Amino acid sequence: MDYNMILESIYTESQKCFGKGKVSSYIPPLARIDSKKYGIAIKTVTGEEYKIGDADEPFSIQSISKVFTLTNIFHAWGNKIWKRVGKEPSSNQFNSLIELEKDHGIPRNPFINAGALVITDMVCEHYDNPKDSLLDYIKKLSGNNNIIYNEEMAASEAEFGYRNAAVANFLKSSNNLKNSVQDVLDTYFHQCSIEMSCIDLCRACLFLANNGKSLEDEVLLGFRQNKKINSLMMVCGLYNEAGNFAWRVGIPGKSGIGGGIVAIVPGKLAITVWSPELNKNGNSFVGFKTLESFTTLTKESIF
Ligand code: GLN
Repeated sequence: MDYNMILESIYTESQKCFGKGKVSSYIPPLARIDSKKYGIAIKTVTGEEYKIGDADEPFSIQSISKVFTLTNIFHAWGNKIWKRVGKEPSSNQFNSLIELEKDHGIPRNPFINAGALVITDMVCEHYDNPKDSLLDYIKKLSGNNNIIYNEEMAASEAEFGYRNAAVANFLKSSNNLKNSVQDVLDTYFHQCSIEMSCIDLCRACLFLANNGKSLEDEVLLGFRQNKKINSLMMVCGLYNEAGNFAWRVGIPGKSGIGGGIVAIVPGKLAITVWSPELNKNGNSFVGFKTLESFTTLTKESIF
């Protein structure tokens, strides 16, 4: 497969899609991002890397961080985590409170904010220094020691994080947070502020395409656990648009409002795209289109 040629053709073709979405504006450091940024990277399980455009430029990974907190704690704790968070898709926006009350404080899945906050609470319970441990884990997965928390971004999330605070308080009142609301939110806002490039994200997520193992054969997730994470990404990774993503793209993925989407072709590769203009569901407009073109041109979808 000539991935370089495929990336070039998608990159050129996608230029006409710019201007149709909107850069996230809920916090100033995200609102400032140049809407024309566009990068794509691929890493295969045989170790080759391909990239185009702004694929080396770090951007705010936002909700893509939910994959890392989940794989970290699932590997450490196993199936007991599913007592406190569900595995079903949600038909509401990622930061909605509607289902949470109906479901008595058990979030639908770990990729909506409520579920991610419960997972972050587990990370806070598991580690003495959750923020350091999480960053170390991500540095190790990506092989990049320069990955950082963007403190300005984290502070801005905290300043404008009324809805996340509401969700966290509701979880606490439902007995589904063990740590203080403040500690959980602080860790959550920091994980959202992590900056990585498309190529960092491909390297960090490649184990999900490789049966849970790093290319050096380290087990990061057991085979069955890995199958479960990919399945969850498939049905919940793009929130209330996961059905549309499965329909148009046909592989597991996880998006963030920084405009990134990581997607996995099981057994083959990880692909990441970054383009900050979002559609109305908070998913990258061009990113979505890029991945649709990728699976169409390569026929590398799981269906
Ligand atoms: N920081 C964002 C929030 O918690 C992340 C959401 C996202 O990327 N979809 O609202």
